[in-house]
Amino acid sequence: MSLEPIDIDMTENQIAGPAWDLSCEYESVTSQELKADLDRLSELLHEAETHNINFQGNSAVGSAQTLTKLREQASTLLANVGTYAHCLLSVDSQLEDAQKLNGELQNFYKRFGDVFEPLSQFVDDADDDTIAEYLADADIAPSAFLVLRSRERAHENLSLAEESLVNGLSQDGIHAWGKLYNQLAGSLTCQVVVGNEEQEMGIAQANALMSSADDHQRRAAWLGINEAWSAHDESTSASLNAISGWRLEMSKQRSRKQEIHFLDAPTHMNRISRKTLDTLLDVAFRAKPLAQKAARLQARAYGKEGFGPWDLRAPAPVLSAAEGGRDAVGVPFTEALNLIADAYGQVDASMADFVRMMAQNKWIDGTTGPRKSPGAYCTGFAKSKTPRVYMTYTGGQSDTITLAHELGHAYHSWVMRDLPDSQKSYGMSLAETASTFGETLVRDMLLERAGDKQEQLNIMWEEMSALTAFLLNIPARFEFERNLYEARAERPLRPQELKDMMTSAWQNWYGDALAEPDPMFWASKLHFYISEISFYNFPYLFGYLFSLGVYARRGAAGGDFFRQYVDLLRDTGRMTAEDIAKQHLNADLTDQAFWLATIDSLERRVDDFERLLEALGV
Ligand SMILES: [Zn+2]
Repeated sequence: MSLEPIDIDMTENQIAGPAWDLSCEYESVTSQELKADLDRLSELLHEAETHNINFQGNSAVGSAQTLTKLREQASTLLANVGTYAHCLLSVDSQLEDAQKLNGELQNFYKRFGDVFEPLSQFVDDADDDTIAEYLADADIAPSAFLVLRSRERAHENLSLAEESLVNGLSQDGIHAWGKLYNQLAGSLTCQVVVGNEEQEMGIAQANALMSSADDHQRRAAWLGINEAWSAHDESTSASLNAISGWRLEMSKQRSRKQEIHFLDAPTHMNRISRKTLDTLLDVAFRAKPLAQKAARLQARAYGKEGFGPWDLRAPAPVLSAAEGGRDAVGVPFTEALNLIADAYGQVDASMADFVRMMAQNKWIDGTTGPRKSPGAYCTGFAKSKTPRVYMTYTGGQSDTITLAHELGHAYHSWVMRDLPDSQKSYGMSLAETASTFGETLVRDMLLERAGDKQEQLNIMWEEMSALTAFLLNIPARFEFERNLYEARAERPLRPQELKDMMTSAWQNWYGDALAEPDPMFWASKLHFYISEISFYNFPYLFGYLFSLGVYARRGAAGGDFFRQYVDLLRDTGRMTAEDIAKQHLNADLTDQAFWLATIDSLERRVDDFERLLEALGV
């Protein structure tokens, strides 16, 4: 397929990416349009407040319908201004005006939550006939999926007064423990040997050293981090005990009508059933020997018997010149974008057009700058229904992959842009479908075009690192967290018990593929301390295997694939994962067969990696 080169306003061979243009949303933070949106938002919230007063008796359905429409309008404005502030602050965290705007928005978020809470309660608690009447309104009918999903858990609701009490107390309860952890992680320093001298540095900085190419450096960073956390093991374990204890107590309180389990909330939020989760973990267990083999091969490439926990983010080893290695040269942004357009275009020409359009409309920020926030993300403006991609592009191969990943998210939102707002949000389990799909397309093209063995090794290496992270590390985290909840139901756990529990979870999954476990991982991993969400682990495993499953269908579905793919993406906000798989992939997620087909495709990739190492004489 021939593709037009991308015409964007920048020097052809410049490495760094372009700056995005946000002026089509608002000229500036102090612009009239922005002020008008906030004024309108205030009016809408005020109107909703007055409607809340008649929220009972015969007029309840009418009030609920009016409030729902007000909520949709208000949330569009709030999200639009919020995205604008967030985008500005990502590029320059010191921007005073944007900081002030963000502060102002905090009050709006709180007010928004308070104003519409009675509506949420009404929708959950009303009887079926009332809800049928409520959903009969043509503007509200599209939200049926969300409404009915929320009502499935209505039996967990406490009284309005109790919910309000729990909400109030949780700020200085569960959320305070989460904040304590974040503050600790942000202020903790550790001692790390760099070169010949010991340096004091923050945890984040030491963490970055764990992706160093230098063996000793990675190990020194890991030792430093663990020593720092060990010194705080009492306060950290108190935090973990409090967070899990709070959730268990809440589960008990919410079990008045029907017994609930600590896995009910996370699976419901991810729109998967407990049976699907069980199937997923059974499949991961069956794939364990394959993942362990990948980990052992990676260790072998470094000339080691087994990797240490400090090696999990090690880069591909650099081959000597004789083995086909060469100095890395940065890839200009335009070249990366053209490559992504080529790869996306293999599925359908319109996908290549989309990639080019993102650049032409200046919807991507790939600049570098001292005050830019780290990381990459995709966001979107609710009013114009247009996506934006943010990253720092410096020309490395991983930057091409990151760009492909974020453009996948952007594509997902693009194909959903004409849907009602109530059908646009999806659970984390399906959120990574389009991004991982885009990433895999680009990785496969890079592999096809790899000029030498070093490039091949770099790409396959990242694949193997992802495979072991998703199929060994994530299940180990899940196993630890599940065991934690079960044991915590009896009594709080001592730091040594948490270490033992983490050690056994690591040994169970990594086996002898790892030289030693990471006993302090319960303290060093932020994900266990997110007070808003529990089990921030299995959705990663689901997303990884599900998106590869979709990718594997590409060949089999032939010319029909593109239409099927877009239909699948468009349904992510209005169906459960099981229903989506049934309808668009003719697959049953509670059956191992669908997942095992993906594991088979991964087995071929591990074999390719082994062959490459053999060819290199490793
Ligand atoms: Zn993503």
